[in-house]
Amino acid sequence: MTSESPSLGNIDIEAYILNEYIPAKPLDGNLEVHFSDSELAPTEACAQLRCGELLKFPFVRPGCQPRAVAIRKSDVLVPDDEATATKRVVELTLDSPDLFEFQPGDTIAVLPSNDGKLVDEFLDRLELVSKADTMCSVKLALKCAKKSAKVPAHIPQTTSPREILTHCLALNAVPQKQFLSALAGFTDNEKERSFLACLSSKQAASSYSELVLERGLRFLNILELCATCRPSLAFLVEHLPRLLPRPYSLSNSPLASGPQELQIIYSILKYKPGVTTSMLESKAQKVENGEPTEVVIYPRLSNNFRYTEDDLSSNQILIAVGTGVAPFLGFLSHKEQLISQQSPREIGKTWLYLSAKTTRATLNLDQLLVWQLTSVLERLRMCQSRGESPCYVQQLLEEDSEELVALLLQPNTVLYVCADGAKISQSIAGGLIKCLQTALQLSEEEAAQKLKELRAQGKYREDVWL
Ligand SMILES: Cc1cc2nc3c(=O)[nH]c(=O)nc-3n(C[C@H](O)[C@H](O)[C@H](O)COP(=O)(O)OP(=O)(O)OC[C@H]3O[C@@H](n4cnc5c(N)ncnc54)[C@H](O)[C@@H]3O)c2cc1C
Repeated sequence: MTSESPSLGNIDIEAYILNEYIPAKPLDGNLEVHFSDSELAPTEACAQLRCGELLKFPFVRPGCQPRAVAIRKSDVLVPDDEATATKRVVELTLDSPDLFEFQPGDTIAVLPSNDGKLVDEFLDRLELVSKADTMCSVKLALKCAKKSAKVPAHIPQTTSPREILTHCLALNAVPQKQFLSALAGFTDNEKERSFLACLSSKQAASSYSELVLERGLRFLNILELCATCRPSLAFLVEHLPRLLPRPYSLSNSPLASGPQELQIIYSILKYKPGVTTSMLESKAQKVENGEPTEVVIYPRLSNNFRYTEDDLSSNQILIAVGTGVAPFLGFLSHKEQLISQQSPREIGKTWLYLSAKTTRATLNLDQLLVWQLTSVLERLRMCQSRGESPCYVQQLLEEDSEELVALLLQPNTVLYVCADGAKISQSIAGGLIKCLQTALQLSEEEAAQKLKELRAQGKYREDVWL
């Protein structure tokens, strides 16, 4: 298990062992894995699709099911740049023949899989290399006395260790204290056992905070630190969380590209990249090499964060940071198409406020400038958060306070915010509160209350990518 995280560096587990501590109550084991004599040929097909109707897919649109679709194209929109901490950003074009209808702002869910190399390392650690592809089923242990014990719904009835580790379990889960306490029982090494048991204790709460909550120690990092810890597959199946689908905003318009083409834009961390983005990255690589490849997706329930034909005569204030502009590219492309298709009628104003780390990191800058020239965008305000004079999007809002609030308070105006973090969203809300204070001469509390009202009225809509 090779750590890609510089923040975890060299952790000396011995330094975290206290003289006195009481380990948390360990999780118990109620499941068993039964192997047959047959082999299950490894495939890329997602095993969760074979789990039957009991397995629910979060926010799935009624009547829809996850399906594999081909990735037609991948384009790097922004290369990564260490000097400015800019993440690599890639656009994927997916084929979606007759899958579902969509409007800009809608999201799809992508079913992730764990990296093949990581799964091999887990199989090795669990001493399951020789049985990696042997057919197996997970059952309640004969001696199981716990009434609530059950085989998780995300494990197919017939499967293999490789399938379970690749498609079903979150190997990078945050380790809970009772889980750590139980892991101590899977190693004979005194130092590792004490470290795990101690980390689970109340007495070591500050170590848990430092390692798990601040430095981001995940289950797979625990296995890196405790080289002799070999939990059983049955224990992991019972106690690791399900590998869940991740949402992605559609960034295209069905009018511009046809309803059978979907586009998503993802950013990927250079160090410690996430599960889904790593998977998408390796698939993008395959596409670049001309190899056919697929990804399993489903449409998520729509909400009011979307732009439809009915919005053409209304005004929009769009606020985004970095990759958060993705859904707005769909909004603007849709608006452009609607304008070109319709006989002249009243067309609303659209303003976009956008910050990126650098000018180079501003997604689809050329297209944004064209939309500004052709009045699809009435106002385009951009800034960069890196470089000699860093500027954040809330500063742009504050500079335009009076006009922005005047537009916002018009009955047919909606403000949309798309940001990829709680802190950024809070700063934007803070900026909007200042705008309301300035323009309407309100106190901070009154302005915060006004923003709350705008939210309740559906005039302030947020897409938070947490
Ligand atoms: C409604 C909605 C729409 C979204 N739309 C998009 C979209 O259009 N494009 C998009 O890129 N993402 C989008 N996201 C976020 C996306 O769903 C994933 O959370 C993200 O791609 C990371 O997934 P992962 O499985 O690779 O990371 P995980 O394995 O879940 O990573 C674990 C943690 O690492 C951090 N992390 C991983 N990758 C990144 C990253 N690239 N940037 C910052 N932190 C990261 C996060 O803290 C994350 O919780 C959206 C989220 C929501 C809720």
